[in-house]
Amino acid sequence: MPAKERTIALRLLLILVGFYGLSCQQKGSEQNRAGIAISFDDHFINEWYALRPLFQKYGAKVTFYITCSDSLSSDEILKLKQLEKDGHEIGFHSTRHGKSTEIIAAGGPAGYYAAEIEPGMKYMSAAGFQPTSYAHPGGNHNDTVDSVLYANGFRIIRDVAISKRKLLGFQIYALAPRLMPWIYYDFDKQKSVDALLIDTDTGLTEEAMREAIQKAKNTHTALMLFGHEPLYKSPENGEYGFNVRFLEAILKEAKAQNLHFYKMTELADQ
Ligand SMILES: [Zn+2]
Repeated sequence: MPAKERTIALRLLLILVGFYGLSCQQKGSEQNRAGIAISFDDHFINEWYALRPLFQKYGAKVTFYITCSDSLSSDEILKLKQLEKDGHEIGFHSTRHGKSTEIIAAGGPAGYYAAEIEPGMKYMSAAGFQPTSYAHPGGNHNDTVDSVLYANGFRIIRDVAISKRKLLGFQIYALAPRLMPWIYYDFDKQKSVDALLIDTDTGLTEEAMREAIQKAKNTHTALMLFGHEPLYKSPENGEYGFNVRFLEAILKEAKAQNLHFYKMTELADQ
């Protein structure tokens, strides 16, 4: 091969290797996407704030979904600001925690917006927060509700997944989280997602969570979880929430497996 053609051939080869190298790199970054997205709902701001050392210990970033923002005290606003500064996300969880499908059936999209979105978002904005993700109260919604939320700038909306269901006191099913593909974000630009409830009444075990985390790791997806009030002993007097030791076991395992901690809007950005 003449020298000039050899040079051209070499250059072509380098370009091809370059392309191949690039595609390998892209594949590599996809594989590093495995993660966990944990969120907390309602208005347990003092209790969530007390978890800061735990989040810091494991480098966890999470999302807090706020409802009843009209009642945010200046102290609660400062605490949410600090949580945001720590790298967590502040999302929105409706104005009054109403049943959205009933509100929209009665008042249409405009009535739903006026009741559940506009007032609460005004309070959030006045407090200095601009939520871009939304969690459905009680996991109750339909396509019309979702379209109002998308039209108002929410980039990802979170529903509820439950591993165990009881009907009239009888357990009708119990699913292992690793067998619930809908609680794993597979980075397909999906905007309506399901997170698994981790409150104490779900009866989830640390072993089941270890398997669920392993699945996220193996499938390069993000496991989505959520809970309510942090509890340090069994719930009483109508308390509903998750055991803090159980949360710590999840954070510890996620860190040990080198999972990325995603905030909810971050999932939509991937
Ligand atoms: Zn709620």
